[in-house]
Amino acid sequence: MGVAQVIVDIAHSDLDRVFDYAIPEEYKEGIIPGSRVLVPFGAGNRPTEGYVLALQDKSCIPDSRLKQLYRPLESFPALTPAQLILSEWMKKEYYCTTAEALRLMLPAQMRGQRVAERVLKTVAIAIEGADLEDALRCLAPLEAEKSKAPRQLQVLEMLRGGPIRHCELERMVPGASSAVSAMLRKGWVKIGYEQSRRTPYASIGIQKGPEYILTPDQEKAVEELKASVREGRGSYLLHGVTGSGKTEVYLRAISECIRTGKTAIVLVPEISLTPQMVGRFRERFGQKIAVLHSRLSAGERFDEWKRIRLGEVDVVIGARSAVFAPLKKPGLIVIDEEHEHAYCSETHPNYSAHAVAKARCSSEGAALLLGSATPSVETYYACLQGEYKLLELPLRIGGGEMPQALVVDMRMELLSGNRTIFSAPLFNAIRTCLDKKEQMMLFINRRGYSNFVLCRGCGHVLMCDQCDVSLTYHKVGGALMCHYCQNRSEIPPVCPKCGKPYLKQFGIGTQQVEEQVKKYFPTARVLRMDMDTTKGKDSHHNILKAFGGYEADVLIGTQMIAKGLHFPRVTLIGVMAADTALYLPDYRGAERTFQLITQVAGRAGREELRGNVVVQTYSPRHFAIECASRHDYSSFYKQELLNRKIAQFPPFALFVRYIFHGEDPAALKKQCEDFFSEVRMILEENPGDVLLAACTPAPISRIKGVSRHQVLLKLRRNEQTKAVLDALQALLQNHPELKMACALEINPGNMI
Ligand code: ADP
Ligand code: ZN
Repeated sequence: MGVAQVIVDIAHSDLDRVFDYAIPEEYKEGIIPGSRVLVPFGAGNRPTEGYVLALQDKSCIPDSRLKQLYRPLESFPALTPAQLILSEWMKKEYYCTTAEALRLMLPAQMRGQRVAERVLKTVAIAIEGADLEDALRCLAPLEAEKSKAPRQLQVLEMLRGGPIRHCELERMVPGASSAVSAMLRKGWVKIGYEQSRRTPYASIGIQKGPEYILTPDQEKAVEELKASVREGRGSYLLHGVTGSGKTEVYLRAISECIRTGKTAIVLVPEISLTPQMVGRFRERFGQKIAVLHSRLSAGERFDEWKRIRLGEVDVVIGARSAVFAPLKKPGLIVIDEEHEHAYCSETHPNYSAHAVAKARCSSEGAALLLGSATPSVETYYACLQGEYKLLELPLRIGGGEMPQALVVDMRMELLSGNRTIFSAPLFNAIRTCLDKKEQMMLFINRRGYSNFVLCRGCGHVLMCDQCDVSLTYHKVGGALMCHYCQNRSEIPPVCPKCGKPYLKQFGIGTQQVEEQVKKYFPTARVLRMDMDTTKGKDSHHNILKAFGGYEADVLIGTQMIAKGLHFPRVTLIGVMAADTALYLPDYRGAERTFQLITQVAGRAGREELRGNVVVQTYSPRHFAIECASRHDYSSFYKQELLNRKIAQFPPFALFVRYIFHGEDPAALKKQCEDFFSEVRMILEENPGDVLLAACTPAPISRIKGVSRHQVLLKLRRNEQTKAVLDALQALLQNHPELKMACALEINPGNMI
């Protein structure tokens, strides 16, 4: 007898173990590890989806009590052996259940059978020769007489050219359905089925790109990577300035994968997964690529996933979750713009694409390549520690100079009486750019609405005196708060630095910029790209197309316009307020600011026209802004690493957080504090490693009526870290009363 060991698709940790099910005789062949199956579960034998992890000859459950599974859910195993191994790793690394890990590896809509293959009905003629002649004659009896069934005649005539999709027939001949039904009854036509695939970006034409001669730096990187792909190991960081030809390096390394019978995954941040980007890959690799991103319809996503699963695809391009794509024999995983924090999942399990990619590469024998113009401090640090080999592209293709940014001090603007959002230099640059009929991008950080408090007089931002991060203004209660140490305070009446009453909650938005541009430059044609204007599936693409086609002079946008785009006519980049990211309530504020400014500045003057970059700020002396305006990564890195070391932030330490939820705030607080005392006992074993341990209401202490309480720890990172984390996790397992309501997060993306 065959027995399947099944994980039921219910994320509860009590159910995180295999259940045995007998396999019915008829499915013996079809069910293997990785198959999804429908099983009777629980006392009521509710049909429940599950994953087969392993097969056994016998179960230790007596035959009389062993249930039979109902049936397989697909005709092929949904999960690969490599994915099953990866799920084990995920479980250990992120403290999730097997079901939670496996869910990440399948299109979400597949669960619950919400998508299936799209099958199209086709209609074909079922008769031939004399029978067909008779049928046609019967429909059009005599030349002079009108046909009694003109639609049947029309349809039959059309079908003589070959089968036609049912839906198309109906479109060409209204009322065709009833004609088809009538002819079906007479046996004249028959129904067939055709599988159709919903190919995203199918409309993008394929043109062969130019064959470049690699620059010496590219050549060096490519040779190194090719060898690494062949050997099936190696981790690299490709640090190349914007426009230095990193993408070309990826393309060549991927070609080597394909040449040696391997495959590749390219991860890009969602926002830079543009048709331009996909086009370059399609140009090189034709239809053998699959694209995965969140704007796909459920059907498209499923179809793409299935092509990958069935081995029809060599290259997968996608956002974060594409790191789980079921490609066989991956030879290379690329993480482009590796510094983007979109690579960390903000929901449980809080995985990082870097860590998952690394685990996959080592278990499946692939090389790992991270690429960026502005590597994250943590990655660069790891690289210098020997975790990645550094490959560098320090020069722009074509030798173009990096545009120098003009940093404008907005405090001086205010002093000189300018109360608009445009500094004089930016105002003049916009005027000149419009006069010359060139294009510009005005950039606003979406997080501009982040509520820090700034003095318009001196540029001082209210900071936490314990933590060196900005205080966040909470509308409710009107208090200032530090998201790291949980200190609360009131907004002082005057600026503590200059004593003037100019403290103001800060933040400008894209809409405001649009209004102001229209007000001061009424003839300018303006496009705006932000969350509001890009809700539709193609709106992102359409806006860029319009701008690329010179249908507008000004593109106003959030970080969506900061990435990978290439518009030769753009000669002016304006950063409206560089400080917005600087004073995020986040230790990565300086890093984000440096990255954003460097990235946007890289957009200007990529071809013959020289580019101007104007950066408006209240903190012109801040090292992140100074370094970014000079494209000086190395100085930025040195200063930032030093700051992190002094403040004990990652990579030198890590934050660990448990969030607890509960209806009753008092009971929640009590539970949390009891738990915290046990946490402290664990921490007492290595007291020197504990930099912070607190049990407090979460920064947002209530969401939708549910109270949130947290245990926040900051631990020095060292060899014992993993053991401490395991102990903390084990502690959580001992508290079933808290388990449902809580998740352990490590270095959470934000601390709300
Ligand atoms: P990055 O990814 O570093 O921003 P890209 O790969 O997009 O840089 O390259 C910038 C531009 O230079 C692109 O238009 C690309 O087609 C072109 N390019 C890349 N490599 C070469 C080369 N070796 N010779 C000529 N042009 C190149
Ligand atoms: Zn603080």
